[in-house]
Amino acid sequence: MDDLAAKLDARRAQGLYRQRQTLSSPQGVRVRMGDETLLSFCSNDYLGLANDPRVVSAFRAAAAEHGVGAGASHLITGHHAVHAALEEELADFVGTERVLLFSTGYMANLGVVSALTDRDGVIFEDKLNHASLIDAARLARAKVRRYPHVDTTWLAQRLATEQGSKLVTTDGVFSMDGDIAPLRELHALTRRYGARLLVDDAHGLGVLGNEGRGSCAAHGITVAAPVILMGTLGKAFGVFGAFVAAEQPVIETLIQHARTYIYTTALPVAVAAAVRESLRIVRAEPWRREHLQALVQHFAEGARKLGLRLLNARTPIQPVLLGNPDAALASSRQLRARGILVPAIRPPTVPVGTSRLRITLSAAHQAADVDCLLENLATVLPPRAS
Ligand code: PMP
Repeated sequence: MDDLAAKLDARRAQGLYRQRQTLSSPQGVRVRMGDETLLSFCSNDYLGLANDPRVVSAFRAAAAEHGVGAGASHLITGHHAVHAALEEELADFVGTERVLLFSTGYMANLGVVSALTDRDGVIFEDKLNHASLIDAARLARAKVRRYPHVDTTWLAQRLATEQGSKLVTTDGVFSMDGDIAPLRELHALTRRYGARLLVDDAHGLGVLGNEGRGSCAAHGITVAAPVILMGTLGKAFGVFGAFVAAEQPVIETLIQHARTYIYTTALPVAVAAAVRESLRIVRAEPWRREHLQALVQHFAEGARKLGLRLLNARTPIQPVLLGNPDAALASSRQLRARGILVPAIRPPTVPVGTSRLRITLSAAHQAADVDCLLENLATVLPPRAS
């Protein structure tokens, strides 16, 4: 116990200690914490659907009809007609042959990468890939090559020389930087070198592309070999869960071999029913994406005027780089004291020296909320927070 306590103390001393914040309200732009109401720029509820009354009532109705627990894994008796219907609707949405639901995006990544790679294979990972893709490669026990962020030249050289089955994995929209992967180049390279391409579109789905079909659609890329798409349902969709979209043999292989699919309880039916409603809204209400995009531009212009160096200006993930963890933590605390919630993101979530405030925008924000954020950033941040 003493060594655990010592390690925790060391973490605190480095400014890396993590603590949970406890909400007492629904997720939204204004959240309650203790006796405070805070303006939040933290969540991945990009379209403002996490507390949409239509999604909530779909959930409630399905729970009343089908109960709350799936009771077993999909391969025993947990697979329900509502799951099947959702899989078909998602396949139609992303324009692919077949979709398989997973309980979380983390599990989907572990399942796909380990089911599709043998020990003689090589997995290529962008250095800024999400932790679940990194862990997936570890679990697969294949050879792992991490390439410098979006460096397709480096990747092309290695794809040309490595032997064995090859899988390239990338975030569609990088979760901490908010930039978009060079999917057209990655697509061309994986085709040329006979590799598969796994795109984790946790942050692009619902937000980018026509009807919110995601990063691949935004680049004109069809979800068919060599592409496998992983999408999550707890971010823009506002609910919970994830799916993998690909061709029939890939999905059948996952059903046979993906351990994070086989050995876990199925998603509650009411969750799947809520996602069906949310998917309907994602497709039918383009104003959410348009409004969100206008907010992104509004923020980026305001931040530029303040002299903040932003990493990108195109997605709702807008990090402000501060460098060391203490600076990020101090800024986050000062914003909090002013009624604004923005998380400090520190190593190991991001590389050492790149601690930051990770601002996320939602279609539920108004331009006035963004103005309020900008005014407070101007006060709290050092003159050149870049
Ligand atoms: N991939 C990315 C890029 C993510 O940001 C996340 C969630 N933070 C996940 C996967 C995991 O998804 P889930 O929360 O559904 O496990």
